Amino acid sequence: MTVRDIAYVALGSNLGDRDVYLARARRALASMPRTRLMAASSIEETEPFGPVEQGPYLNQMVALETELSPRELLGELHRIEQAEGRVRTERWGPRTLDLDIVRYEQQTADDADLIVPHPAVNERDFWRREQAELRSLIARH
Ligand code: AMP
Repeated sequence: MTVRDIAYVALGSNLGDRDVYLARARRALASMPRTRLMAASSIEETEPFGPVEQGPYLNQMVALETELSPRELLGELHRIEQAEGRVRTERWGPRTLDLDIVRYEQQTADDADLIVPHPAVNERDFWRREQAELRSLIARH
């Protein structure tokens, strides 16, 4: 049975023309199969964290109405990261495009390579702000 659910996906870029990478990612996400882009948060600049010296990120979050399972969505996100020219030389290092599944309204996953909600769902202030913004955008419909 297919489930129609709402998925929250975080976009991040800290290399190259960051706005352009986010715009391309939004377009690619909106054209995934069995998926509709419901709302996009505002774009926020954040300082990088972790051990590697790197420039600030542009972050954004989108809400997607989708029939893709978390596993199918992860596959699509990997495909989009590759297609949009993800460049990364080291773990935690800078990247042109990073896409994360933050959470689903109804579904969860707990596998070695896929955890939904994302373990950082409540840790990143900007993710919390973006989720609140999306909730109010969606509620207005
Ligand atoms: P990162 O280095 O942040 O790009 O992490 C990439 C890997 O994290 C992916 O290849 C996934 O297998 C794994 N992963 C686990 N949970 C999630 C999630 N909720 N969203 C995206 N990737 C995840």
